[in-house]
Amino acid sequence: MASPIAHTFAGFWTFLILAAQLKTRLAAQWRQWLPQLGVLILLANLPDLDFLPGCLDGNANHLHRGFTHSLTFAILVPLALSCAWRIVPGFWRSTLLYFTAYSSHLLIDFFTGTKIGWTHTGFGMPLFWPWSKEFSSPLILTFGVRHKTFAALFSLDNVWSCAFELLTCSAITAIVLVLWKARLNSRIDSPSVKHRLAMFR
Ligand SMILES: [Zn+2]
Repeated sequence: MASPIAHTFAGFWTFLILAAQLKTRLAAQWRQWLPQLGVLILLANLPDLDFLPGCLDGNANHLHRGFTHSLTFAILVPLALSCAWRIVPGFWRSTLLYFTAYSSHLLIDFFTGTKIGWTHTGFGMPLFWPWSKEFSSPLILTFGVRHKTFAALFSLDNVWSCAFELLTCSAITAIVLVLWKARLNSRIDSPSVKHRLAMFR
């Protein structure tokens, strides 16, 4: 499975969708959005908490990639969370954002395997749990993290896969932010917005 680095970036990308929907000025008001950012990052990482019970009996993979890696939970968890706290106005809009954050985890894991390319080396997830059939993509886009034992967590392979995720996710984030800024600038330059701004001067 991919490391928390890729999943944390995915939580941040979901947060950018939220910011775009609310048309908020992130740079000026970033502090007040920290709880929302925290919840979305937590949701994007949540499915992997299933390895914690396995740590107690010495095999982290014992329950890993089980029911938490399913669309069933990707729907149930956002519904329950939306009942408790709406991250944006409206129950269904809020549920959809939570779903986006949670299912981003499944999407990344779906394309994670031991060898990049058309290699069929994915780990498999019971996407339609309680149906136990496991699914993974034949096309692998990112390496998995080895975590069978505590020592394996700190292996050189894991350092490489974390560095790979950090580089690719940073590049994607930079491209998204540049495109966003360009879109904002083009909006401000559009004749209708210029006309509206002139009215307030
Ligand atoms: Zn996972």
